[in-house]
Order: sequence, then C-alpha cells, then structure tokens
Amino acid sequence: MSTPSDTPFDIAVAGAGIFGLSIAHRAIKQGLRTLVLEAAHVGAGSSGGLLGALMPHMPARWNPKKEFQFQALLCLQDHIRQLEADTGLSCGYARCGRILPLTTQDKLDHHLERAEESKLRWQPDKTGFTYEVEPAGSRSDWLDAAAAPYGIVYETLAARTSPREYLAALAAFVRRHGCLAETAGVTGFDEASGTVFLANGETIKAKTLVLAGGFSTFDLIRRFTGERIGRGEKGQALLLDGKGLEDRPAIYCDGLYVVPHGNGTVAIGSTSDRDFEDATPSPARTAELVERASRFCPQLHGREILSEWAGIRPRCNKRDPLVGCLPGQRSLYAATGGYKISFGIAHLVADCLVSEIEGVDARQKLPQTFVPEHHFGLNRLDSDGF
Ligand SMILES: Cc1cc2nc3c(=O)[nH]c(=O)nc-3n(C[C@H](O)[C@H](O)[C@H](O)COP(=O)(O)OP(=O)(O)OC[C@H]3O[C@@H](n4cnc5c(N)ncnc54)[C@H](O)[C@@H]3O)c2cc1C
Repeated sequence: MSTPSDTPFDIAVAGAGIFGLSIAHRAIKQGLRTLVLEAAHVGAGSSGGLLGALMPHMPARWNPKKEFQFQALLCLQDHIRQLEADTGLSCGYARCGRILPLTTQDKLDHHLERAEESKLRWQPDKTGFTYEVEPAGSRSDWLDAAAAPYGIVYETLAARTSPREYLAALAAFVRRHGCLAETAGVTGFDEASGTVFLANGETIKAKTLVLAGGFSTFDLIRRFTGERIGRGEKGQALLLDGKGLEDRPAIYCDGLYVVPHGNGTVAIGSTSDRDFEDATPSPARTAELVERASRFCPQLHGREILSEWAGIRPRCNKRDPLVGCLPGQRSLYAATGGYKISFGIAHLVADCLVSEIEGVDARQKLPQTFVPEHHFGLNRLDSDGF
C-alpha cells in the first residue's frame, strides 16, 4: 500500500461500511489526517445492501437511545444534503414516511397511546413530524385494507436512502480528502508504537485505530479484550421493478419492510436468521419474501425481480451498538453493532466517537447503553481469552 509511512495518520479506521466511512468522513471534517483500511471493497459487508430504511423507534417508553435516534433522524437530511453538495453524488435520500397496519383492537389501543405520546416526544409543532392513527381503509391503494382491519399508523419522520449510493458518496469524500485502501484487512494494533498490522504483512502508523468491521469486529475485539460481545445475523433483501411507486411511503408489515426508492425500484427486506452458513441469498427465501409482501401490498404482484442480496449484520449481545474506547486500551476504539438502525444513526455515532477521540463535547450525548462499560464484563460467552 502506498502511503507516506513516516508521518502517522491521526486516525485509521478498519472497515468501509456505513459506520467506518461515516467516522472517517467526520474525522476529515474535524481536520484529522484519516485513513480507511478495508479488507475487501467498499460496501463488502452488510452496508452494501438494498433496503435503506431509516425508521424511527416508537414514541413510547422514551429513553436516551430513542432520543439519540430521533435526533439523528432529524439532522440526517441536512447531513446528506451537505455530503451530496460536497461530492456531487446523490444518496437516494427522501423523507418517505411509513405505514404500519393495525391488526387487532389491542394494537389499535396501543398505537392511539403512542400517537398521544408522539406529541410530547416528536413535538410536531416544532419539527413538523407526525405519528397518527388513520381509520380502516386509509391508503388502501397501497397497503391492502384486508391487512389492516383496525386501521393504520401513518408517520412522517421515516425516510429512506440508497445504501450503495450513500456509501459511494462517503467513499468519494474520503478518497478526495483522506485515504482509502481496499484489500487491506487489519489484523492487529500495537498501541505503544501506533502500528497497525495488515493481513498482507504491511504495517501503517496511526495514533488511533477504530475497529468498524461489522460482525467480524467481534473477533478482533475478542483478541484485544478476551470477550466476545456480539455476533452476526443474516438478513435478505431484494429489489423489484417499482415504476410508478416512487413516491409511496415505506410499509412495515408481517416482519417485512417494503421500501420504494426514487429510481423506480421497490426494496423488500426480511427479518434475520441467527443460523447461517454464508452470506449468499437463498432463492427460496426471495420467492417467499415476494409472496408475503404481495399479499399485503397487491401492487407488487407480478413485478420483475431485479436483484437479490443477503448480508450479515453485526449485533451486540446487549442489542445496542458499541461505540468507544475498548477496555484496557488508550487509542483503540470500536464502533459496531448498529444492527437494524445503522444508516439512521451512523453520522451521529461518528460525531460522538470523533469528539471522544478529540476530547471535545459531541453534538448529542452517546446513550449509556452504547458505551463499552455497558457491553463488557457481564456478558462473557467465553472465558478462554484468545
Ligand atoms: C437484509 C438486511 C437489511 C437491512 N436493512 C437495513 C435498513 O433498512 N436500515 C438500516 O439502518 N440498517 C439495515 N440493515 C443493517 C445494516 O445493514 C447494518 O447494521 C450496517 O450495515 C452495519 O454497518 P457496519 O459499518 O457496522 O458494518 P458492515 O457494513 O458489515 O461493514 C464492515 C466492513 O468492514 C470490512 N472489514 C471486516 N473486517 C475487517 C478488518 N479486519 N479490516 C478491515 N476491514 C474489515 C468488511 O469487509 C466490510 O466492508 C440491514 C441489514 C441486512 C442484512
């Protein structure tokens, strides 16, 4: 790899997924000399997918994590518009809104309460975003009325982006203002000398290393801390021809997301498989996803399947992402485990992590459930060190 080896980088980031690239982007904006080291290629991990749903948590039982994600979604549009202006590349972003079907009286009652709480949490007068229950039959030209006998929730905060376009824009920014090396997997780090070890035998000097390698990061973290604090979970998605559906809201129904995109496609994404052999898509699962989605969304029926994709997303044992300096280390950080919401929060996670590295206040305080203390110590799966 050709990089000037005499001057150490301020920050090296292992992994060019949404977390790694967002951290590198933020670090560059802060004026840090930044290098991204990617084992394969940009988007090789779970960030290189198709769905791109940017969905808020429910406005109920509010907590710091929900507030963090809410603030992240509020400022994501400006962040993306600035990135698009900086790079001249579209990220396929739009505030599309979301429909949730209400299938029982219980659910209707619950969501009426949530709609009430949203007035406090989402502050529609100030933000313009609403979470409302609509009667049965509402928006039935998109979500079949039979799938929502007790009505629907329609909320306007949800958005979507094209994961691949968003990554490409971040990568273009990093290449232009920092360094990005592909086929450069990180295997180790010596804090004392600031040496990053690569799979090809080369070394790089960096004052700080951030591990953002998706689910593989859990192996590296274990090598440094002796603890395995997470695992991978497989999920599958596909793209259908969606001409004429570009402006429809996203739907979450029957454990599936249906997300129309501005380029005339509709993405469908599944819930996860804990047990998996590899990250290749299964044709049987694709057929099942299309069949299930077409049942509640008849407009999808008979549309051409354009592509299929599967990925393994990182999931911390404690569910929430891990963001911060690893226990017992001074300049070795990790950011992983965003699980289902990484694209909506990565820019704010990046701001928090780079602020921590710089020793300055972040725009938004990181929830306590994201910090390393929450993840280590109590959830040891192995006791054999490495
Ligand atoms: C089917 C499916 C649908 C999803 N839908 C959504 C959605 O709609 N919205 C949403 O927000 N999230 C969604 N997710 C989750 C989201 O994709 C992940 O949470 C997110 O991509 C994780 O990003 P990451 O940067 O942490 O890891 P990854 O994207 O997995 O990136 C890790 C990168 O690091 C590289 N790497 C690994 N080890 C090393 C190493 N040692 N050195 C250097 N590089 C390394 C890998 O090659 C990879 O490129 C979905 C996931 C799946 C599977």
